Amino acid sequence: MRLGAHMSAAGGVYTAFARGQKAACETILVFTKSNRQWKAKPLADEDVQNYREAAAEHSGIFPTAVHASYLINLASPKPDLWQKSLDALKIEVERAGQLGIPLLVFHPGSYVTADEQTGLDNIVRALQQLLADTADSAPGVTVCLETMAGQGTNLGHRFQQLAYLLENAGPSERMGVCFDTCHVFAAGYDIRTPEAYAATMSEFDRVIGLEQIKCFHFNDSKFELGRRKDRHAHIGDGFIGGEGFANFLNDPRWAEYPAHLETPKTEEDEDGNEIEMDVVNLATLRSLIK
Ligand SMILES: [Zn+2]
Ligand SMILES: [Zn+2]
Repeated sequence: MRLGAHMSAAGGVYTAFARGQKAACETILVFTKSNRQWKAKPLADEDVQNYREAAAEHSGIFPTAVHASYLINLASPKPDLWQKSLDALKIEVERAGQLGIPLLVFHPGSYVTADEQTGLDNIVRALQQLLADTADSAPGVTVCLETMAGQGTNLGHRFQQLAYLLENAGPSERMGVCFDTCHVFAAGYDIRTPEAYAATMSEFDRVIGLEQIKCFHFNDSKFELGRRKDRHAHIGDGFIGGEGFANFLNDPRWAEYPAHLETPKTEEDEDGNEIEMDVVNLATLRSLIK
């Protein structure tokens, strides 16, 4: 697989490449704007130029994937928040298109005070509009629904929910799924042993179709199977464990697919020295390749 991590884009999206290179990333995941704010200054020609130059300079780091803002909630029962979310996601997709980034990952949403079906249908309506509105401006960007842990009223933790969204918003070649190991495990799908992994992947294939997977988030889980808690642990340090990741890493179907860490960036050793954890987690993942 192509292994990498979420990299800071502080100082411009292009700066993420140098950080990725330092951490031995073969692929990077970035925010192209502040993930905690709705607004973003439009990308200037210079930003696009800088990005393209850095991408060419770091030609061993690909593909780049964008993670959309956490504020976006296409399932929202509040019309103003739904509209704001749709507008914000559209901007994210267009920015990815401007930069030539092929993948954009977002959280499907939470139904809050509504119900599951209403929430799913709100997401469908937004995605239909999004795909239509960005067909010309960002034709090369695949919009990926992230598999979710199922915290609160979070949607996308059951494979059936993701299948419903993909079928009803499309079907579209411009949509897919980002498979987050921590979230899938938290949602109750076991991946720890070769047998459990095979069963989960065949369930995914039956319900959604493995061809819908475009990228992975590789996070271990601080909580046990099925607890629906979204807390990321370092690789091999959580309840998934190294063998769980080995199942993905040694599956030839994913040989060319990107996987990004979203685990804590630093830890302290006993002497209080800071350890760069992306380097450690990537080394752990690579050691699991047979
Ligand atoms: Zn995410
Ligand atoms: Zn998470």
